[in-house]
Amino acid sequence: MNKQLRTPVIAGNWKMNNTPAQTAALIAQLIPLAQGEATVVAAVPFIDLPTALEAAKGTNIAIAAQNVHWAESGAFTGEVSAQMLQALGVPYVVIGHSERRQYFGETDVTVQQRVRAALNAGLKVILCIGEVLSERKLGITAEIVRAQTEIALAGVSADELSNVILAYEPVWAIGTGETATPAQANEVCALLRALLARLYGQDAADRTVIQYGGSMNDANAAELLAQPDVDGGLIGGASLVAEKFAAIIAAANA
Ligand code: PEP
Repeated sequence: MNKQLRTPVIAGNWKMNNTPAQTAALIAQLIPLAQGEATVVAAVPFIDLPTALEAAKGTNIAIAAQNVHWAESGAFTGEVSAQMLQALGVPYVVIGHSERRQYFGETDVTVQQRVRAALNAGLKVILCIGEVLSERKLGITAEIVRAQTEIALAGVSADELSNVILAYEPVWAIGTGETATPAQANEVCALLRALLARLYGQDAADRTVIQYGGSMNDANAAELLAQPDVDGGLIGGASLVAEKFAAIIAAANA
C-alpha cells in the first residue's frame, strides 16, 4: 500500500454560489479551520477568483477555477482561457465536472482539449470522471471511467501527470445525498490507479491523488477517506458550510 506517497487533497466545489464578498467571508471562516497536512482547494465562480485569491493569500487554501477553455484567446464568447487563469495566479482548475458534461455539452474530447490547455499553461488539473446511474446498472462502470480517463489523458506525459488529480464522481451520487459506499468508491479508485499504472508505470500511479466525490459530508468522510485508494474528496454541498467542510478536512488529516 503506497498511500503515504500521496498528500490528501480536499477540494470544495462551490459551483454557482456566492458573490465575491460572500466567497471572501467563507474563506475567512475556513482559514483557522483548514489546518493540517491535507491540501485544501476551493473552486469558485470565475467572477470570484480575484477576491478568493486575495482572501486565501498566504494560507493553506488554494484556489481553483471551475472550468477552462482550450484556446488561448479568440471568438469564444463567455469562455476563459488557461492563460487568463495563469495571469491571475490561479493554481488549479476543475475540468470535466458532470454538470458541465450534463448541461453544457462537454464531451470526453473537449475535456481532453481543456486538460491539454491547462497543463500547457502550468495549471494543476482536477479531472472529473464518473458513470451515470444507467451505466452502473448495466455493469459498465469500469469501462466508462477507463474510457473517460484514457481520452482525457491522451497526450499527457508521465511528468505532466504529477499536475493531475483524478476525481472519481459517480454522477448518481452528486448532489443527491446518495453516497457510494466506501467499498464502491475504493473499487473504482483502485481500478483507475491500475489504469494509470498501465499507462504511466506503478510509481507514477502510486503518486497520483485520486479523490472521491458525490455527497461526501462530515458524517461519511472519515470512512471514505480511510479507503486505501481514496486520497481525498471533491465536495459540493457540504463544502459551502465552513464547519462541515472543516470536519471533512479534519477527517483527511486524522
Ligand atoms: C460535486 O459537485 O463535485 C459534488 C460532489 O457535489 P456534492 O458533494 O454536493 O454531491
